[in-house]
Amino acid sequence: MSRRLTLSFDNGPTPGVTEAVLEELAQRGILATFFVVGHDLKREGRRELAQKAKDAGHWIGNHTMTHSVQFGTSVDPGLPDAEITAAQEVLGDLAEETRLFRPWGNGGVLGPDLFSTAAIELMKRDGYSCVLWNSVPRDWEDATGWADRALADIRSQDWTVLVVHDIPGGAMDHLGDFLDRVLAEGVEIVQEFPDSCVPIRSGSATGDLHHLITDVPTDKRDKKENE
Ligand SMILES: [Zn+2]
Repeated sequence: MSRRLTLSFDNGPTPGVTEAVLEELAQRGILATFFVVGHDLKREGRRELAQKAKDAGHWIGNHTMTHSVQFGTSVDPGLPDAEITAAQEVLGDLAEETRLFRPWGNGGVLGPDLFSTAAIELMKRDGYSCVLWNSVPRDWEDATGWADRALADIRSQDWTVLVVHDIPGGAMDHLGDFLDRVLAEGVEIVQEFPDSCVPIRSGSATGDLHHLITDVPTDKRDKKENE
């Protein structure tokens, strides 16, 4: 089997950036997923761009409402609804039936801060697909060097799920060259996500999630347990 690559673009769409990303993808017949932050989607020009991406065949996913709090670090019982459900409502018709949700990784870290039991339960109850990643080349802090790091990841894995960002900063100026290098190596670029990066698919857990969960103890919970 040839190596595979799944592309995901987080934190956009951004007017002035995403148009060119869509063009580079279209020129090469590549389909990807755009994970959008609910709060950002309300800003001028964003929804139209996300619709344009969807109309081109790309998938649109939920990337939290505020992109600012990790479930595993919070005691707020309302956080899963505030970050997941509220953003899904903002997405509305843009969302896929598979309800793609990508948590905020605070720099791409796959660790116990990512989720709480409550957040996992919400995703299962409401049929979400939790989409993680296995390559974060930190394009936001290195607009030119990210492509080499991404390529190294692609060479070292059977199926890479790459996270880059269609935001200002110049990284996406190198997307076309990067895609040409990937294609020249015979890598197959697909839209689907591998099970290894989707621990919950349409509400059903496909793997062990314990390493991704912290439940911050609260005074309330302690009291309850003692009663
Ligand atoms: Zn993000």
